[in-house]
Amino acid sequence: MELYSLTIHEAQEKLRQGEISSVELTESVLERIDAVEAKVGAYISLQPELAVRMAEMADERRAVGEDRPLLGIPLGIKDTIITHGVPTTAASKILDGFVPPFDATAIDRLRQAGAVFVGKTNCDEFAMGSSTEYSAFHPTRNPRNLNCVPGGSSGGSAAAVGAGEALGSLGSDTGGSVRLPASFCGVVGLKPTYGRVSRYGLIAFGSSLDQIGPITKDVEDAAILLNAIAGHDARDSTSLNAPVPNYVDEIKQGDGLKGIKVGIPQEYFTEGMEPGVAQTVRAAIDHLADLGAEPVEVSLPNTGYGIPAYYIVATAEASANLSRYDGVRFGLRQDGGDMWNTFSQTREAGFGPEVKRRIMLGTYALSAGYYDAYYLQAQKVRTLLRQDFERAFEKVDVMVSPVAPMVAFEINAKVDDPLQMYLTDVLTVSLNLAGVCGISIPCGFSEGMPVGLQIIGPALGESAILRTAYQYEQTTDWHKQPAEL
Ligand code: GLN
Repeated sequence: MELYSLTIHEAQEKLRQGEISSVELTESVLERIDAVEAKVGAYISLQPELAVRMAEMADERRAVGEDRPLLGIPLGIKDTIITHGVPTTAASKILDGFVPPFDATAIDRLRQAGAVFVGKTNCDEFAMGSSTEYSAFHPTRNPRNLNCVPGGSSGGSAAAVGAGEALGSLGSDTGGSVRLPASFCGVVGLKPTYGRVSRYGLIAFGSSLDQIGPITKDVEDAAILLNAIAGHDARDSTSLNAPVPNYVDEIKQGDGLKGIKVGIPQEYFTEGMEPGVAQTVRAAIDHLADLGAEPVEVSLPNTGYGIPAYYIVATAEASANLSRYDGVRFGLRQDGGDMWNTFSQTREAGFGPEVKRRIMLGTYALSAGYYDAYYLQAQKVRTLLRQDFERAFEKVDVMVSPVAPMVAFEINAKVDDPLQMYLTDVLTVSLNLAGVCGISIPCGFSEGMPVGLQIIGPALGESAILRTAYQYEQTTDWHKQPAEL
C-alpha cells in the first residue's frame, strides 16, 4: 500500500509508531501528484519545497516528543482560503499576483496542529459554481471518470483527496460546495454549522452563508480536521462562542444507532432525480434502520423556494463583497487613465462571465425599487426555511437525503446553461440559508459514479451527524473503493 493512500488517522498511527516519517509521507503524496495531476488538475498552485520543509519541521517536532492529530499530515487547501506568503487567487484572474500577508484563522489553526500544506486547490471562480468549470485557470476532472466534472465549487479539494494527491483538504461551502464535490468524487465532505468555523481569511462570497469545511477519505478524518479548525475567533464576529467537543471521541460513542430518529424529508426526493440516486439513498436509509435507527417521514414544506431565495441572497452579498476588487488594493490592475476607467477596465478584464452575471443579479436585487420585491422577500423565505428545519428537528435527531439529484455529469454538459447548473444545488442550499450543518458520505454508485448520502443536523449538531455517518461507514465499504487512475 502506498503512503498517499492512507487516511489521516492511519498515517497518524504510523507516524506515532515511528514506522514512517512525515517527509516520507509528504514525498509519497508529491510523487502521486507528479503521476496523476496532469490528468486531474486538482491544484491551481503547488508548493512542493515548502511542503517538504514543513514535513521536516513536523518530524523535528515529533522527535522532541510533540504529538498532535495533524502533525506531519499533508493537506490541500482551497484557493479561496488565505495563506500567508502563498499566492491565493480564488480561481480568479482579478487576484493574479496577490500574495496574502496573513493566514486565515483555519490555516493558522492547522499550522499550530502541525499540518503540512501541499498546494492550493482549484475551484469555481470565487466559489461560484457547481462543477469547477468556472475556474479562470483550468477545469478539474473527476478522478473516478476523467470525462466528468468533480462537482463544485471545491472540486479541486475533493478531486485531490479522491486521487490521493492530499490526505485531506479544506473546502468552503456557501450553498453546497463542500458536499456536492465530495458526493461526486466519492469522498467525505462536512459543512459545519454557520459560525462553527471562523470565516476570517476566507475570501467572502455570501458572508451570511459561507463556511469552511473538511474534505476527507473517511468520517474519522473529517472529525479530526473539524477538531482542529472549529471554535470561537475574536476576529470573526459571527463565529460562535460555543465549546468544541472532541468530535473524534464523540463519533465513537453510543450503542450503534439505537434510538436515533432519522428524518426523511419527502421534498428531498424530487421528481427530476436520477432513479439510480434515489434507489441508492433509499438502500442507505434501510441500512441505517438495520443499525437500529428509526426512520421517520418529515416535511420541509418550503424547500421549493430554496434555490430562488439562495440565488438572491448569495448574489446580493457577492455583489457587495466583490466591490473591493477595483485594481487599487489587490491583484490585477488595468490602467484606464482615470479612476473610473481603471475600476471598470480592471473588473472587465479580471472577472469571468459567471462572476459578472452574479454581480449584476445581486446589484439588481439590492437596487432601490426592487429591494423589497426580491431581497426582502428572499430574507422572509429564509426565515421560513429555518423554521422548517426547527420544526423537523423537534421530531428527529438527524435527517438524510441525497446530496444532489444526479451523479457527476460530463464536462461541458451544463457550462452554457446557468439555470441547469444552479439546479444541482437544490438539496444543499437550504442548509446554508438555515445555518444548520450537513455531511456527505459515500453510499454507493449509480451509472458507475459515486452517490453521496447527505446527513443533516441542527445548529451545532455536528456530533450527531458525524456519529450517524461513522456508524454507517463502519458497516459499509463504499469509502474503501479508491479511484483507479
Ligand atoms: N453552487 C452554488 C453556487 O454556485 C454553491 C457554491 C458554493 O457553495 N460556494 O453558488
